[in-house]
Amino acid sequence: MQIKNFVFPFLMMVMLGCAPSKKEKITTSETFGIVIHGGAGTLLRKNMTPEKEAAYREKLTEAIQVGYEILKNGGSSQEAVEKTIHVMEDSPLFNAGKGAVLTAEETIELDASFMNGETLDAGAIAGVRTIKHPISAAIKVMESSSHVMLSGQGADQFAAEQGLEIVAPEYFYTEQRKEALNRVKEAERKGGESASLEQEFLKNQRYGTVGCAALDKNGNLSAGTSTGGMTNKKWNRIGDAPIIGAGTYANNATCAISATGWGEFFIRSVVAHDISALMEYKGLSIQEAARIVIHEKVAKLGGDGGVVGIDHQGNVAMEMNTPGMYRAHINSMGNLTVKIYKDE
Ligand code: ASP
Repeated sequence: MQIKNFVFPFLMMVMLGCAPSKKEKITTSETFGIVIHGGAGTLLRKNMTPEKEAAYREKLTEAIQVGYEILKNGGSSQEAVEKTIHVMEDSPLFNAGKGAVLTAEETIELDASFMNGETLDAGAIAGVRTIKHPISAAIKVMESSSHVMLSGQGADQFAAEQGLEIVAPEYFYTEQRKEALNRVKEAERKGGESASLEQEFLKNQRYGTVGCAALDKNGNLSAGTSTGGMTNKKWNRIGDAPIIGAGTYANNATCAISATGWGEFFIRSVVAHDISALMEYKGLSIQEAARIVIHEKVAKLGGDGGVVGIDHQGNVAMEMNTPGMYRAHINSMGNLTVKIYKDE
C-alpha cells in the first residue's frame, strides 16, 4: 500500500475530528466470534423438561467456550471449529458422533464436512462407521489427501491411516436412538393414519446435527458440520451436511455457514453457498441473505431447518423456519447467547 493512501485519509479524519464512531463495525485484530448449532426442529417448550433443556444449554455453552478460548488466544478459526465440534460429537445429546441416529439396518453412518475460508480448501467424509470425530476426518481429507470427499469404508480406512482415533461401531449407539428407530419403523409398517401421526415424531428424529462457524483474529473464517443424518435412512443415503456449498461453506470475502435441517431440501437449495453468493453478488448482509435462503428458498420447496453463520466483520446470523434450533454465539467481548426456541 502506498504511504499516502494510508496517511492522507488518516490526516483528514484527524483534521475533521471524525474518528470512526464506536458503533461502526471495523475488522481489527480484536474482531472475532463464534456461532454454533446443535440441530433445528420442532423444539417446543411443552415437549421439553427443565432438566433436558438445562442439559442442552450447558453442553452448548461448554462447546462454544472451547472455541472461544482458542480464538481469544489468537488461535485459528479452523482449530476453534474442530475442537468445538468435538465436544458435541462426544455428547449423546446430539445427532453426531456418539448418540447419532440409526439407519434402517441399525447401523450408524456419519457425515461431516469442513471448509477454510482463507484458502477455500475443503474436506468431507460420508457414511463412515468407526471414526470417533468425523469433523477431524473431514479436515484430514482437506489437508492430507488430494481429494475433497471420501465415503464409506475407504474413508474409514483413510482416517485410520492418518492416525485419527478409531472406535468400534458400538461406541456410537445409544438406547434412545434405538427406541426412536423402532418407533419410526413401526409407523412405517402400519402406514396410513398412524404413519402421518408419527410423521412429526419421525421428522424430529433427524435433528441434532451439529455445526460451527468462526472468525479468528486474523480475519479468517471457517465452518464445519457433523451429523448422523436421518433416522431410518436407507441405501447409504447422504444428506447435505458433508456437501460443500449445501451444508457447509466458508469464504473470507463473505461468510462461514453451517446448516441443519431436511438435507434433501438443503442440497437442492445449495443453502450455504447461496447465502455467500447473495452477500458477494448482491451485497446483502449475512442476516438478510440467510433469511431469504431459509424462508424463501428452502421453505418454498417444502423443506425446514436452519443455519448459523458469521461474516468477515463478526456479524452473526442464526436463522430457522422451524420452532427451534439449539444455538449459541460468543462475540469478541465474550458475550454469550444460548437459545433453543425461535421466539427467544
Ligand atoms: N441435515 C441433516 C441431514 O439431512 C440432518 C439435520 O441437520 O438434522 O442429514
